[in-house]
Amino acid sequence: MQRSTGEYKIKPIKRQIRELLGHPYPQRVPKGVFVEQWVGISTDEFHRAKYSDVKYMRNRHPLIDMGWSRSDCIRYLTGLGLAETPKSSCLGCPFHGNAQWRSIRDHSPAEWTDVVEFDAAIRAGNARANATGNRLLGQAFLHRSRVPLDQAPIDHVTAAEWAAQQAAADAGGADLEELEEGVENGCSPWACRGSEAEPVQDNFGLTA
Ligand code: SF4
Repeated sequence: MQRSTGEYKIKPIKRQIRELLGHPYPQRVPKGVFVEQWVGISTDEFHRAKYSDVKYMRNRHPLIDMGWSRSDCIRYLTGLGLAETPKSSCLGCPFHGNAQWRSIRDHSPAEWTDVVEFDAAIRAGNARANATGNRLLGQAFLHRSRVPLDQAPIDHVTAAEWAAQQAAADAGGADLEELEEGVENGCSPWACRGSEAEPVQDNFGLTA
């Protein structure tokens, strides 16, 4: 997942920002020239707020600056009639729960076709690994049932999933809510839920 963030989010964003600044790669971006990026990390997950790794991009976290938690955001969006706003994430994220998969299938047929094709395409590993001969020993699936997405049990919890989730819960792992709703955190280029990057602590007056 960290690789997906680096390859498909951070690199294209940096490329675009350099162009907007008028200093495309490999030009050097002059000292003091930068963009300010606003990243929507709430106070519940302040430990996921991070600095950018380049000087021409400075990350700001307005929700943390305002002291807004996830509940504050939901209350605000609900007040605007946007209660169904989904968590931010890639379309084909393997951390989706069944609810997210159903939402794509039922409301975005073109995107559903896209993720089903993507799921089939990763079966033997990613394109780069395949090209270099580093094929997976097993098979990759987007849905945790390890069934092709268009056949996966996204409308109900199967007996096998119940048993697996019970075993995982006993071991302190994922629970049934996560199976339905996906992982709690959303994802952004600088707060990938699939990574364990170093936290920023000193500019928010908060510590993990
Ligand atoms: S949402 Fe985050 S964890 Fe999921 S595929 Fe995208 S970058 Fe990876």
